[in-house]
Amino acid sequence: MIAITAATLFTPLERIPQPILFLEDGKISEMTSRAHREIPTNCRIVDYKDAILAPAFIDIHVHGAAGHDVMEASLNALPCIEQFLAKHGVGSYFPTTVTAPVDTTVAALARLANAIEKSAKQDSENLRACPIGIHLEGPFLSHARRGVHPIKDLMVPSLEVFEQFWQASRGHIRIMTIAPELEGAIELIAEATRRGVCMSLGHSDADLETTRAAVNAGAKHATHLFNAMRSLNHRDPGIVGEALTNPGIAVEIIADGIHLDPSIVKMTIAAKGQRNVILITDGTAATGMPDGRYHLGTFEFDVKDGRCLSDGKLAGSTLTMDRALRNVMQFADYDLQRALILATANPGRATGSLLKGKLEIGASADILVLSPSCEVRNTIVGGAGT
Ligand SMILES: [Zn+2]
Repeated sequence: MIAITAATLFTPLERIPQPILFLEDGKISEMTSRAHREIPTNCRIVDYKDAILAPAFIDIHVHGAAGHDVMEASLNALPCIEQFLAKHGVGSYFPTTVTAPVDTTVAALARLANAIEKSAKQDSENLRACPIGIHLEGPFLSHARRGVHPIKDLMVPSLEVFEQFWQASRGHIRIMTIAPELEGAIELIAEATRRGVCMSLGHSDADLETTRAAVNAGAKHATHLFNAMRSLNHRDPGIVGEALTNPGIAVEIIADGIHLDPSIVKMTIAAKGQRNVILITDGTAATGMPDGRYHLGTFEFDVKDGRCLSDGKLAGSTLTMDRALRNVMQFADYDLQRALILATANPGRATGSLLKGKLEIGASADILVLSPSCEVRNTIVGGAGT
């Protein structure tokens, strides 16, 4: 058994001063405070001194990192990405596909399903974030709001093609971005929702009425709010208007200061409240890398000064979750505890990941160790890495 202590712990909904966390078999077996109990002597004690403990981040929308893309066939792609994510505080993540030919997507889904099922053995020197489900972003997206998704591979929603993806992923598709105005989208939203997929509206030109029909069919999430969707207009509110006002919809935001002006981050959080905003990175192979040319799915983009561009359009980001956390504290004038909720408990709840994104007895021992200035000091994944 291992006992971890530090200055403060955020579950994240509660704050525990002088915490003691007991870890056993990769899970949290007990959680208390030094005010209530001495640290027992029959276990290994790890004292993080002035640090802050919190659940490790969950990134539900990330395409790659460290020079690699999650759709890549190479064997070292996922290990490189996962080690990079863990260094930035991520304990679990949803590898996110982009629009590609059906066969390419099917092959990528099968590889990702393997990675999810085998849950790599942790090497404490090179800890890895765990893939826990797949975010399918495309091909059922709008031509008008496709962003950088390749036009030739976009498709109208099809239950048959979805079934092919579902089989390839062996049921590990847990989030799917879809444009609800496309023919067949409402049926697909209803069917995928029935299978437990979190259906997310995005890359869409939908108006308010169509958005509401999608929500009635089961959609409950919006993909990188404001980006790649109809702009908010006071007489034509679209997905943005519905997402900002409907408490049944959780919204992803990219708090890199590029995809959204800091004032819009602040406004979104003010409108949605702290329970329904989810920090994502939309990170790409360029994350953690110098300016240059990188792959996203089957196409390439250029990075200059940290901006990912393809044909003048933003192609994901180079954001990391720890930076998103610090940015949102600054942009929205938020304290650490509330910012942590947006990066841990909220993505956990939105995706039904019951053992992740919170520190409680029985939860995965996926723990973020932060310095008092909110830099990542350590990430513990499944109890490894203490
Ligand atoms: Zn994306």
